[in-house]
Amino acid sequence: MVGTGVGARHGLLIKGGAVLENMHSLDVIIFDKTGTLTNKKVVLGSQHSFLSDDDQILHGIPSRVSNKNVLLWLAACAESQSEHPLALAVLNAAKSVWGDDFTQSDEGVRIENYRIVPGSGVECYMKKDHWGMWIIRVGTREWTKSGNSVSLDSSNDTTGDEEAVDLRLRGHVVVYVSALRLDSVARSGQVIGILSVLDPIDGDARSAVLALKKLGIDVWLCTGDHEITARAVASKVGIDDGNVCAGISPEGKADLVTRLQKTGRAEKSGASSTRRRVAMVGDGINDAVALARADVGIAIGAGTEVAVEAADVVLVKSSLHDVVVGLHLSRIVFHRILSNFFWAMSYNVLAIPFAAGLFFPLTNFRIPPEFAGAMMAFSSVSVVTNSLLLRRYRRPEILEDGNLDEGESFWWKIWMRMLTLPLRREGTVDTTGEDVLPLKQLNMV
Ligand code: ADP
Ligand code: MG
Repeated sequence: MVGTGVGARHGLLIKGGAVLENMHSLDVIIFDKTGTLTNKKVVLGSQHSFLSDDDQILHGIPSRVSNKNVLLWLAACAESQSEHPLALAVLNAAKSVWGDDFTQSDEGVRIENYRIVPGSGVECYMKKDHWGMWIIRVGTREWTKSGNSVSLDSSNDTTGDEEAVDLRLRGHVVVYVSALRLDSVARSGQVIGILSVLDPIDGDARSAVLALKKLGIDVWLCTGDHEITARAVASKVGIDDGNVCAGISPEGKADLVTRLQKTGRAEKSGASSTRRRVAMVGDGINDAVALARADVGIAIGAGTEVAVEAADVVLVKSSLHDVVVGLHLSRIVFHRILSNFFWAMSYNVLAIPFAAGLFFPLTNFRIPPEFAGAMMAFSSVSVVTNSLLLRRYRRPEILEDGNLDEGESFWWKIWMRMLTLPLRREGTVDTTGEDVLPLKQLNMV
């Protein structure tokens, strides 16, 4: 109880005391990429259109949209109902060109049937007399090229792939835009362009990851985005290359949680292995299943409502440092629970034989009943006082190199060390060889 209150003071909404207990024994933390390790300060980078002047789709575009901005307008119309960080970049760019009402029906264009497919992208239908009905999709390569109802093998169509690799190597996130005319014979979308988005890494991400690793946590990155971008982000924040899973669907993220739970922790002796406790940190609808499946689901406060609902802990200030604070606090709370047991038991174990007069024949001493009663009460007082002392908890400062500065005074540092010493597992985490990385079999998008 006190622990959850202290958490709230430090920006952690912890949904119940049991969560703190689960948290103290975490072995693995999986981070989502977009919107979690990267912040929401996204901006549109560049537009690469593959349309030619005689393309039919150009005939229905409102005249206020210039040819160089067609791609942006179509993508922004499809994104207009999405809360995704990448949607934000596209929408902001569109609003800066045409104002807030850029989707307003003009020159007879009607936009309807918005659809959001978590982990893949978005689509909308656009229609106008003598232009026909078009499905516009924005998102992953596979999603934009797949057909209306059936997913077609689109691997032969390589439009945009070369430009995409180049942009990704330069650190951009790439989204594909496709168009499919409903009455056409084609059943798969034709890529009409790609957009690049600059999605900067959160300033706290690297120090938070390094701190977690120093606290003995095995840190993973799992994303629906492309492998090149995922690996670039992982190396910048300090996540090992072998701990990166890219192109993963929302169900695949939940599968990864299960797999890492099943992969036992190698004990120092190397003999026994136990089920690992896994936390997932995410922001999107696409993370909700994994957040619910994990032992501890941690949602970014600025993330989607679905993620916040599914999580056990919400980072109210959306600061990744608060993941470290949560772990640190939970370890201290757990240690307090153990020490409460110790104090409550030791009073009774030592005092009851005396109070019962067990040693009276030998020592001629027995605790007077009123004094024994007072001691009983005092054992409860010590437990309550010990718990209330938690209110004095000070969050550690997380330094650039991942070290924790746990307080100013020397004695406070010694006190904190004593409290957390039995719970530190620095450098002991390793995975047993079984089946850690047939991650290729995870549900890919
Ligand atoms: P992450 O797992 O890193 O949070 P998502 O699963 O949200 O990423 O998205 C994975 C990929 O799906 C993105 O890189 C993008 O290509 C595509 N995508 C998903 N939603 C959208 C959207 N609203 N607009 C554009 N692309 C999207
Ligand atoms: Mg995300």
